[in-house]
Amino acid sequence: MVLGRMSIVTGGPDGKHQRSSKDRQCPSCFIRMSTVDYAYDSGIQINRCDNCAGVWLDQGQLESIACYRTGSPAVNALAQAQAKSLGAQNRWNFFQDAVRSKSASGAVAMLCIAIAFYARGPEVAFRSFAFALLPLVCIWFSDGLGNLTGVSLGLGRPTVTHATPGVLIALAGWILLLCRFIVAMLLW
Ligand SMILES: [Zn+2]
Repeated sequence: MVLGRMSIVTGGPDGKHQRSSKDRQCPSCFIRMSTVDYAYDSGIQINRCDNCAGVWLDQGQLESIACYRTGSPAVNALAQAQAKSLGAQNRWNFFQDAVRSKSASGAVAMLCIAIAFYARGPEVAFRSFAFALLPLVCIWFSDGLGNLTGVSLGLGRPTVTHATPGVLIALAGWILLLCRFIVAMLLW
């Protein structure tokens, strides 16, 4: 058997090779082999003949080396799952940042007002501006609004009892911003 440039002597059932790994003899040169760590840091102790460069592997060590070289399937699967979840986390963070972006929402609101001004005149532009205020407040201060609890909304008892994720408020702000602009353009 040849692995790379090393010739590998695999252990047989004959008594000649049933010794401890320390004083194992090369089956071809009959001199004592030295014990080395495969690839220096794999932790797999193999016997190597300094004369013919033959390598002795104990039972299961060939599988251990194959595992070391290709990686354990379980560890690989774990690494892949971790990379995947990290990617998902990054996408989620990017989405949250985008939804809460003050400059993006401000630019969209300005664009809407400008389009309203040129398409429908100053009155509709002013309405668009007024309509954009609440959504912009939602987007810009989404976290502060989300953490407001115990707000009664004039109904006598607290109607908001749990903190709302800021990203949901910001998302609602975006929907409100675009809907109000469309309504302002269509109705007036
Ligand atoms: Zn040898």
